Amino acid sequence: MARIIAVANQKGGVGKTTTAVNLAAALAAAKRKVLLVDLDPQGNATMASGIDKRQVTLSGCEVLLEEVEISAAIVPTDAHYDVLPGNGDLTAAELKLMDALAREHRLKDVLAKVADKYHTILIDCPPSLNLLTLNALTAADGVLIPVQCEYFALEGLSSLLDTVKAVRHRLNPKLEIEGLLRTMYDVRNNLGNEVSAQLTQHFGDKVLRSIIPRNVRLAEAPSHGQPIHLYDRSSRGAIAYIGLAGEVIRRERGLPPRAEPVDEVD
Ligand code: ADP
Ligand code: MG
Repeated sequence: MARIIAVANQKGGVGKTTTAVNLAAALAAAKRKVLLVDLDPQGNATMASGIDKRQVTLSGCEVLLEEVEISAAIVPTDAHYDVLPGNGDLTAAELKLMDALAREHRLKDVLAKVADKYHTILIDCPPSLNLLTLNALTAADGVLIPVQCEYFALEGLSSLLDTVKAVRHRLNPKLEIEGLLRTMYDVRNNLGNEVSAQLTQHFGDKVLRSIIPRNVRLAEAPSHGQPIHLYDRSSRGAIAYIGLAGEVIRRERGLPPRAEPVDEVD
């Protein structure tokens, strides 16, 4: 049975999609079978995986509304992971789901149909705590929270953690915090170090060892429809996401995290 990890933070631009796509590719490179679910109507994870969201006819929308089987909508990628594509239609799905029975459980129920085909299912969440995100948190075993090492990084984290608690009480008792992931980290910037220290102070071992550096190759890769692993496998960004995949696999096996050296910037 697949482990399901939701990549969530209601703040936009913190590295959710970059993390979901590149972690999917890094896990696939480690021979894991991975499904990436794009639950953001912006469809960025779909595009970054080399699938044109405008050409997609069956998306997460039709799957959530139970108009098609999930297996009919899943698309393979060149980086050897599968994608359940997302696009603007997800906004319509969210609206229609509002009146549905057990509306928060839809995604959990459809993922159950393919869970035996994958080791890991990653869900890229939209930048809000809406019904789509609640569906992701209800389906997930763990929530991975990217935190940008910049101003106001901690802002909004407490409402996200309150939501996680509420979901655990009411919808999904098994939901764990997979970890807080420091993204866009720049060693030359004192602020990054301050934010990093604050995070560790507040959240202790919930902060993952892996740190994703600010790396221009990570920002370029999506416009080529490629994960970093295909676009530039020797870049610092690619190496960092391989490190994160290792840490996720070690956590899954109940092993202690390996100490990772703080990455330099390019
Ligand atoms: P979110 O999904 O949380 O909105 P994204 O993953 O789309 O965030 O990242 C926001 C922007 O920052 C994108 O343009 C992305 O390419 C860029 N970006 C993300 N992570 C990095 C990084 N580590 N280094 C440089 N640019 C990054
Ligand atoms: Mg995104």
